[in-house]
Amino acid sequence: MKEYVSFENPVEIVFNTIKDIFFILNSEYKFQYINKSASDFFRTASSELIDASFWDVYPFQEAALLSDILIQASLQGEKISQQYYSLSHSQWFNATAYKWNEGLAVILSPANSESVRQDDLLQNVKVLSLVLDYIPHIAFMLNQKAQVVYLNKRWTEYTGTSVEQGMGIGWGERIHPTDFQKKMLLWDQNTEAGTAFKTKFRILSKRGEYRWHADSLVPLPTKEKKPSLWVGTATDIEDFIRVKRRQEFTNKALHVVLNSAPQITVVYNTLNQTFIYCNSAFNQILGFPLKELYTSGLQFFERNVHPDDLSLLLEHFGWVAEAGSREDRTIEVRIKDVKEVWHKLLLRSVILNNTTGGKIKFTLHYFTDISALKEIEDKLRESLHLATTITTTTPDLIMIYDIPSESIVYLNKSQLSDYGPEELKKMNKEERTELIYPDDRVAVLQFHDNFYTATDEEIREIEYRVKKKQSADEDEWVWLNERRMVFQRNEKGMVQQFIAVIQDITERKEAEIRKTEYEILNKLVEKKEEFISVASHELKTPITTIKASIQILKRLIQNHSDEHTLLVFVIKATQQVNKLMSLIGDLFDNTGFNAGKLHLNISRFNFSSLLEEIISSYEGQRVIQIEGIVDVEIEADEVRLGQVINNFLSNAIKYSPEETPVRIITSLSHGMLKVQIADQGKGIAPEKLEHLFARFYRVDENLTEVSGLGLGLYIASEIIKLHGGTYGVASELGRGSTFWFEIPVKVS
Ligand code: ADP
Repeated sequence: MKEYVSFENPVEIVFNTIKDIFFILNSEYKFQYINKSASDFFRTASSELIDASFWDVYPFQEAALLSDILIQASLQGEKISQQYYSLSHSQWFNATAYKWNEGLAVILSPANSESVRQDDLLQNVKVLSLVLDYIPHIAFMLNQKAQVVYLNKRWTEYTGTSVEQGMGIGWGERIHPTDFQKKMLLWDQNTEAGTAFKTKFRILSKRGEYRWHADSLVPLPTKEKKPSLWVGTATDIEDFIRVKRRQEFTNKALHVVLNSAPQITVVYNTLNQTFIYCNSAFNQILGFPLKELYTSGLQFFERNVHPDDLSLLLEHFGWVAEAGSREDRTIEVRIKDVKEVWHKLLLRSVILNNTTGGKIKFTLHYFTDISALKEIEDKLRESLHLATTITTTTPDLIMIYDIPSESIVYLNKSQLSDYGPEELKKMNKEERTELIYPDDRVAVLQFHDNFYTATDEEIREIEYRVKKKQSADEDEWVWLNERRMVFQRNEKGMVQQFIAVIQDITERKEAEIRKTEYEILNKLVEKKEEFISVASHELKTPITTIKASIQILKRLIQNHSDEHTLLVFVIKATQQVNKLMSLIGDLFDNTGFNAGKLHLNISRFNFSSLLEEIISSYEGQRVIQIEGIVDVEIEADEVRLGQVINNFLSNAIKYSPEETPVRIITSLSHGMLKVQIADQGKGIAPEKLEHLFARFYRVDENLTEVSGLGLGLYIASEIIKLHGGTYGVASELGRGSTFWFEIPVKVS
């Protein structure tokens, strides 16, 4: 504790009852003692004055006037008494200062104003002017006519003109014309009222620039009503104005910036727990008026913060208030807006200032709406998760391949025809190509080389086989399906990496093969069934006729009918038996040829005799014209050759009208025997010609009136082939057909 000057009680009482102002200053001009009147004079409690600097407490203007007395007293070490006019109290004092220990004791006794004469005053001012000349303000005195009667040296320093030039009305020339008029107007008003007043005006400096000054004019009291003298100081406030303007601008800019900022910015007073600032983002994001936060304070958050986050937020505000550190702290809170929609906000808080007591007063809080961000983040995480799940669980091989380095940069855990990812990564391009089925290699390499033309959205697909790892001795192949897409392009836009999904489709491929086999089998079964149905029908017809003929014969015999009648039915039955024999023969031949079991039985015979014998069996059925009879001995299978001619001839008769003749044209040249059988029937459509010689083929399958198994031409073609010959047909719809064959024959 510092020891202050104190007096014994009786003295204290005296000091405090006297009207005189009494105070003691130490060597640093700090108050050590103040009596009651002094405290009133300085308008400050004595407890607050103790240790305060005299120069801080007392208005400079006045201190300057008094300072002369104080300085003289402390310098000279003797008592100095002078009359002193206090501007702030508008009163004259008899000022006495004398040395007290290292400091000064000062007594100001109120003087009777009437006793003070103007001359004394001017005298006083002259003394003071010494001091006034050193102050950094223009000091002046004006008479009632606004004429300058006193100017300090600062005037010359500032304006570059002499004190004499500024005296009288001269000073007006240095004042900005606009300001001068205003000033004079104020002067007129205030001098009339006799009150102190302040003005602002621009004075022309010696550098030729007008700078703003502020002055305050105080009237000196006189006996008359109207004051006769006015004292004032003009202070250069140009810099202050500039700073203020800049500050105003900064404030405005700050306001604009804060209000256009996307995050909610609030300033919180931690001492009285109120919000003193909030930008418009509060309203934009949450929809509440700003007033809501100002009036509700923390309650706003209590109402609108998610219950799960509230304690965290309140704790956070508490932390910021207590922390006393300069660190930022960030938390995430959910706040619902005016429409009850939740927003996820990131709250970052900063301490604005620390008051001297170490208690934090203002904290700054930024709330950034991260709802959208959160959503994107969640989606991203979800899709990432999905991607990882897919790549790790899929049986397909997923590969990212770098084209320039010809290397696999990513492979999931799947196996490719028993090769693990690590093994595949280690292989070079050649080794990998080796794995491909030789017949598929060109296609795969072409697919790869052409991939540079792929667009970003395109998926290209290829199927190929690769060697199975486990099949060391015997090559086994795995079918793969590769789907490829562009993964990354270089800065020139060229495909740099692709992503490929490779699937083992062996099973599918095998199933496909099985399916075609099955389909063929099915068709065969169908054919077979169809054939059986046709064959049963074909076999049943003659048997029915034979059965009927035998029953009639039985009855005729019982009735003792004549021989002629009996013969008719015997012939009929015999014809049908022949037909049956021929059908069964065809069926036998069919299976025989099909199994490669039929062989020719070559013999020597006369060709025209064979032909005549065949033709004779058709006697009475049709007109048969024979051209170019070849009466030569040939070597061939007589029965089979007869079968071929028979087939062609019977077809010609079957498929042409009864009234038209059938022609048989034979020729022999260069050891080749050619036989053509021409009819004038309905002909065969060109597209059907090539199938005619196939097994079971019948041009019109629904044609029931003309019987047949569709085996005749097939068997004929097989016989001709066995003979080393050729065969064919020429036909025109509506005009007729010509079937022919040509076989090499040994002619003797
Ligand atoms: P099919 O016993 O049914 O006659 P083919 O093998 O002898 O069996 O003949 C096959 C098919 O060729 C016949 O069903 C018929 O439709 C057609 N065909 C054969 N010869 C002739 C012909 N001369 N004129 C028209 N169609 C013919």
